[in-house]
Amino acid sequence: MPQHVVVIGAGVIGLSSAICLQEAGYSVTIVARDFPTPFEIVDPQTQINYTSPWGGAHNRWVPPHPVPGPERDQALREHALSLSTFKRMEALAAAQPAAGITFMPGIEYLESPGPEYVALTEVAAAELGMPGFRILRADEFPDARVAWGCEYRTWCVNPMVYCCFLLRQFVLRGGRIFKRELRCPDEVFALHSDLGTVNAAVNASGNGFGDKNMSITRGQTCIVTNPCDATVTRQNADGSWTFCVPRGFQGGTVIGGTKEPDNWDPEPSVDVRKTLLRRFAATYPRILDSSGKLQFVRDIVGRRPTRRGGLRLETERAVGGNVVVHAYGLGGRGYELSWGVAEEVVRLVRSELEGRASKL
Ligand SMILES: Cc1cc2nc3c(=O)[nH]c(=O)nc-3n(C[C@H](O)[C@H](O)[C@H](O)COP(=O)(O)OP(=O)(O)OC[C@H]3O[C@@H](n4cnc5c(N)ncnc54)[C@H](O)[C@@H]3O)c2cc1C
Repeated sequence: MPQHVVVIGAGVIGLSSAICLQEAGYSVTIVARDFPTPFEIVDPQTQINYTSPWGGAHNRWVPPHPVPGPERDQALREHALSLSTFKRMEALAAAQPAAGITFMPGIEYLESPGPEYVALTEVAAAELGMPGFRILRADEFPDARVAWGCEYRTWCVNPMVYCCFLLRQFVLRGGRIFKRELRCPDEVFALHSDLGTVNAAVNASGNGFGDKNMSITRGQTCIVTNPCDATVTRQNADGSWTFCVPRGFQGGTVIGGTKEPDNWDPEPSVDVRKTLLRRFAATYPRILDSSGKLQFVRDIVGRRPTRRGGLRLETERAVGGNVVVHAYGLGGRGYELSWGVAEEVVRLVRSELEGRASKL
């Protein structure tokens, strides 16, 4: 009999982890409060803490800091996870055209580039495995405030098309789902009548359960109907961001966006929306329609699950020796790192359960 793993959470991290665990031969159940649905019916108020629907979501390569130290180590670790995710996205997009993934150019403009960007030559980018990387010439910048720019090949997803696809794959492979709200990860080991014996749990709850290092980073973006031929990101000298993420699959294009630590306001600001639209139109006028406009559809407010010290990806022996693998706190990079995190979850579960089996 295969061992039984319960994944808590049906965001992009829980779904990817559940599929990878199935591929590794485990019997898997997902227990979650929220499951993917069409984007049009996700509730902006009651489901604001379910982050996956509100993400862009694109892959933006983040170069590691050139000076050795913890910051560089963390960035290299995350870069490895993003490379694993990229490979899997490429394979999925080729094999499953309906999965919600689109490959396109990624363009970056920086007004005040940090040392990690200044050090990023085309040779260094090739060594880091960034496909199609090219440094832009100054005459390709949108205006004189931009000091550095690059382009590369990358992917975007339409989040709820993609997450619904993952959920269907999981169920078609025999996965079970339970809609429940839990008080702590340990609770799944007590739900015998619903779940049977549980050999391990994966905490993919986004925010963990009461982790003191967790907070949120509010993001306000909006959707326009204008299509766009690239995902474009501009880092402004004042620390603000101007970006677009084409969602594909009739999801329009996301124009963003804010990054506001510890701001819990669920309401979008009309003034912020106007600023986001104006700034993006100035940076990338190719997106404008024949009347020179962006066609606004709706605002988005989401909460990136941000963790001081970075994501938590490790095993804990909980009460009574129960095995809990934590995989949460992905901040603004959940999609980018998803398959890399899921592969690491399998490695952690396997090493705990195989280690335990050999001790029995
Ligand atoms: C505006 C914005 C733009 C973003 N853009 C990008 C981007 O371009 N690229 C990118 O990679 N990322 C982006 N992100 C970040 C990305 O969306 C998140 O990192 C990702 O969605 C987190 O996924 P998750 O599975 O960890 O958490 P979630 O999606 O929040 O899922 C958590 C799951 O756990 C369940 N759960 C939680 N608590 C309980 C409980 N007590 N009991 C039962 N179930 C529970 C929830 O119901 C849900 O199913 C963006 C985020 C925002 C807000």
